[in-house]
Amino acid sequence: MLTRWQDKEVDLPVPNAAMTEKTDVVLIGAGIMSATLGALLRQLQPDWSITMFERTDAAAPESSDPWNNAGTGHSALCELNYSPQLPDGSVDVSKAVDINERFQVSRQFWAHAVETGVLGEPSEFINPIAHVSFVHGADNVDYLRKRYEALARHPLFEGMEYIDTPDEFARRLPLMAKGRDYSDPIALNWSDRGTDIDFGSLTKQLLAYLGGSGVEIAFGSQVRNLDKQSDGSWNVRVRNTRTGGNRTVNAKFVFVGAGGYALPLLQKSGISEIKGFAGFPVSGQFLRCTNPALIDQHNAKVYGKAAVGAPPMSVPHLDTRVIRGNAGLLFGPYAGWTPKFLKDGKLTDLFKSVRAGNVTPMLGVGVTELGLVKYLVSELLKSPAGKVNTMEEFIPRADGHDWELITAGQRVQIIRRKGIGGVLELGTAVIAAADGSVAGLLGASPGASTCVSAMLDVLQRCFPGEYQQWTPKLKEMVPSLGIKLSENQGLYREVWDWSTKALHLERPEPVGGNTPTPAGVAQN
Ligand SMILES: Cc1cc2nc3c(=O)[nH]c(=O)nc-3n(C[C@H](O)[C@H](O)[C@H](O)COP(=O)(O)OP(=O)(O)OC[C@H]3O[C@@H](n4cnc5c(N)ncnc54)[C@H](O)[C@@H]3O)c2cc1C
Repeated sequence: MLTRWQDKEVDLPVPNAAMTEKTDVVLIGAGIMSATLGALLRQLQPDWSITMFERTDAAAPESSDPWNNAGTGHSALCELNYSPQLPDGSVDVSKAVDINERFQVSRQFWAHAVETGVLGEPSEFINPIAHVSFVHGADNVDYLRKRYEALARHPLFEGMEYIDTPDEFARRLPLMAKGRDYSDPIALNWSDRGTDIDFGSLTKQLLAYLGGSGVEIAFGSQVRNLDKQSDGSWNVRVRNTRTGGNRTVNAKFVFVGAGGYALPLLQKSGISEIKGFAGFPVSGQFLRCTNPALIDQHNAKVYGKAAVGAPPMSVPHLDTRVIRGNAGLLFGPYAGWTPKFLKDGKLTDLFKSVRAGNVTPMLGVGVTELGLVKYLVSELLKSPAGKVNTMEEFIPRADGHDWELITAGQRVQIIRRKGIGGVLELGTAVIAAADGSVAGLLGASPGASTCVSAMLDVLQRCFPGEYQQWTPKLKEMVPSLGIKLSENQGLYREVWDWSTKALHLERPEPVGGNTPTPAGVAQN
């Protein structure tokens, strides 16, 4: 039992108390975040009861579903928005190092989970894929060379290569080479240390572990409200979406892992920490390749540079995916706009999230982010043929017949109060009540890749007392806990080698572009 409030005097609550079930922990949403937090808590505190509520009838139906996101194991090996060029021409890699550090935490947790049987076959959720940054044009080539010089000697980016010759480009990226006009100079930063991750499969494996270890996972259960009780616990009101019946569960700790619906639920909780926050929904589309011959010709995640004035979420990328044992290929994202906070949300979501406390930040962002608005409008106006034209920067001979348009997950970007206005943030943020009784996760990128460090943050902030006691066990799961791997090359190599082996991410040989198909993966 979670005993945090056992010594407090407890008022007998509401008349229907007899109908209220009790649990130690409620997790809202069956996505990667709740699943990760559940798996951590189950191992740290097996005596606590946990109940998970998911509004749909499926696991990971929203952003964590593999085709709703790009499945990139974000470790800043290829994403150029994490290594911006400064006005003096130098490249700032501090953000890249931070993202990479956080991905190493996830990698270690997953490796330990595989070794201890919490997770099953790793190739069902993680596979090695080259991560590549791609630019063209003289200025961009110059930038990429500087980025390479700043990163290649860094311990976390070992083995990165710089490529700027057409022959080598064509050898490594044949699909992108065909028909390319090399009078426009090109360059690549190439890393063989990248991964593709099926976060849906990972979530399902974690949920199977949770279900098997006594966690109640209630599908078709939509959380409608959170009411704080006088003893500091929460009454979580849930509606059964199949029968319409209501259920109230009293929990000592609630995690709101509801994706885009985290903001409205945290608002309903009434905690002061959510005041001043708002959400800016951005929808997305991908082009998914339907031609197996093309899928065969590409084996890398290739990230380009966002157009001038466009936000980081618009960075175009051509991605090999590995889903249910099959290789696939996607290009995108194409941004769009809808007021919904979930792909399966309501048109009233944005309107209903407006509060006295967040209207000024929202209006402030409306004024300062005109570039984003302009970008979204231009994306919305793009015809299907226009979308294929955009892809020609990557695949000069792109043919629309080889691709289908799919709708990706919904991103709800964070708007935070700043001064008298607001600021739009493109990261993720953990919001926790001061008493640690409720926490939730807002935002999108780098998202799922950093789910373990985000959930460790939740544990540290909401359970400061227990965290000390949990630290030895946590260090078994994440041996580098509390240590910067970027400053400890020896430890980095040790945990890298261990996690690579445990997750079956070894490559038979340095690939240099002839990247072999990951073990057990069929080219479909
Ligand atoms: C287009 C796109 C591309 C992305 N690419 C990447 C990438 O390449 N790499 C990466 O690491 N991350 C990526 N991300 C981010 C990543 O997908 C998310 O950070 C991550 O999946 C969020 O997980 P979550 O568990 O918080 O939310 P979700 O997976 O959205 O889960 C939330 C769950 O809560 C449920 N829910 C909502 N409201 C309620 C309620 N009231 N009651 C009960 N249940 C509720 C929903 O049905 C859903 O199942 C991408 C996201 C998008 C949209």
